[in-house]
Parts: sequence; structure tokens; C-alpha cells
Amino acid sequence: MAATILDGRALAKSMRDELRAEIQQFTADRGTAPALAVVQVAGDAASDSYVRTINKACDAAGIAFMHHLLPGDTAQARLELTVRALSADDTIDGLLLQLPLPKGLDATGAIAQLDPRKDVDGVTPTSAGLLAQGLPCLLPNTPAGGMELLRRNGIKLAGRRAVVVGRSNIVGKPMALLLLHEHATVTIAHSRTPDLAAVVREADIVAAAVGRAGIITGEMLKPGAVVVDFGINVLDDGRMVGDVDFESAAAVAGAITPVPGGTGPVTNVMLLRNVLQAARG
Ligand code: NDP
Repeated sequence: MAATILDGRALAKSMRDELRAEIQQFTADRGTAPALAVVQVAGDAASDSYVRTINKACDAAGIAFMHHLLPGDTAQARLELTVRALSADDTIDGLLLQLPLPKGLDATGAIAQLDPRKDVDGVTPTSAGLLAQGLPCLLPNTPAGGMELLRRNGIKLAGRRAVVVGRSNIVGKPMALLLLHEHATVTIAHSRTPDLAAVVREADIVAAAVGRAGIITGEMLKPGAVVVDFGINVLDDGRMVGDVDFESAAAVAGAITPVPGGTGPVTNVMLLRNVLQAARG
């Protein structure tokens, strides 16, 4: 294997240590810990597990955690009222609406009630607009974590060709903007892109955010390319893999994030960092 492994677990650990000290100082200065509220509508097992992970991470970091678990048959109006009330609650610094919502509930309407100053997941149109204009804002955690992995591993971005595969509002699009802000020349590929291999082969930096196991293979990569794999796919045998076929890609790439242990652990720390940033105002 030729590629350097971009180790998200190690980075997340050192970032958590840095953050814990910053939060301690903040709490001592303000007199209260930064506080995160999570609004979740019951019914999604993966969300239950994610919320437990956030809860533990907050406890360990010194962030107060509040879980507002609404019943699975919650009406849109009640959901929106809850988000609006927490947005207006001065004791809450960060507010996260756990997605996906059950069928019948409209995420856009609920997000519209979220105060952008508390938007620690970077999902509001205001956060997206600020990011697009390169203005200070709370960044979506996953792409922010991907950028942190690149930055802390000394990967040069300015002037290099970057291809982001996937254009969701929460991963692909913001990742493309963050790379652009670092002066990369950025292409976004998606499901209508013909000849994905030809597009990916041009890239010095490849970021995959698709949700399809092994859609990017070593054959598609330019030798020495840096690969950031955001994909989380669970195979029939229970193994978790990314969007990149790790074995073939690692033989060609210059550096690569593994799955698990790459972008995932850093995503969680970026959320904690956003809570502190929101608390600082
Ligand atoms: P979405 O389903 O919202 O977006 C997937 C994107 O992939 C779409 O833009 C879609 O294109 C594109 N796509 C689908 N098929 C192809 C194809 N054949 N060729 C090229 N592009 C294609 O997913 P998310 O952005 O929310 O998530 C992406 C992945 O990242 C998932 O595996 C998810 O689990 C993971 N994830 C990881 C996180 C982490 O912490 N590492 C956090 C959040 C998500 P189109 O727009 O045309 O439909």
C-alpha cells in the first residue's frame, strides 16, 4: 500500500483534548457551560445511536446536553414550535434538528424556525448563504471535518484540481465551497455526470459524498491523488465501508481517509466546536 492514511481517530482525539481545555476556560469565564439541544422525532434507530454518541461526546467535552425527543406521530406545527421555542431560549447555545424526520414531516419548514446563530449543523439557508459568500458562519460538520483532515495533514490545496462527487446541501456542496475558498479549482460531479471516471482522474484531491460502496476505485484515480471519503455504507455482512474501494485506491492514492476511522470521528468533534463557537456568539 502506497498511500498515507489520514487518521481521523487520532486527529479527533487531539482536537477533543484542545477543545476540552477551551471549553473549561469558556465555562469558567461565563459561569455556565456551552449548551446544546437536540430535537429528535422518535422512529429512526440510526438517529438514536447518533444522538447517544453526541450525548457522550458532550459529556466528555464539558458541554451541557439536552435531548428533546418528540413522539413519532408529532405534527409539523408542534415540531416547528419546539424548534422556535429552543431558538428563543437564552440558555441554549446550539440547536440541532436530528434528520431524517419521519415521513410526513417537512425538514425545510422546521429548519426555517432555527435561529442561524444556533445552527451548529450548518443547515439553515442563512448559514449556506454565508458560506457561499465566504463570510464567517457555523459550517456543516462533515465537510468542515474533511477540511480539517486536509489542513492538519499539510495537504496543499491552492491551485490544485479538486473533484467533489455528490452535491447534497450538507456534504458535497459545502465541501466544494470550502475547497474553493482554499483556492482549489473545483468540479462537482453527481448522478447525471457522464463518465465519472474521466472527471475523477483529473483530480489532485477527490472528495466522495455519494452513499454508494466502492463507486470510486483505484483505476479512476490520478496517481498520488488525495482521497477524502465521506461515504458510510453498511454491507450485507455488516461491515461499514466508504464510497471508495479502499484497497485499490490506497495502492494508487498519495493519501486517503479510511472508513471507518477517517472523516466520521472528526465530524463529531466539529459539532462540539460549533457549539463553543455559537456560545461565544
Ligand atoms: P445524499 O444522498 O444527499 O447525496 C448523494 C449525492 O451523490 C447526490 O448529490 C447524488 O447526485 C450523488 N450520486 C448518487 N449516485 C451517483 C453516481 N452514480 N455518480 C455520481 N454521483 C452520484 O447523501 P449525503 O450527501 O447526505 O451523504 C453522502 C454520504 O456521506 C452517505 O454515505 C452518508 O452516509 C455519508 N455521510 C457521512 C458523514 C460523515 O460524518 N462522514 C455525515 C453525513 C453523511 P444527485 O444530486 O444527482 O442525486
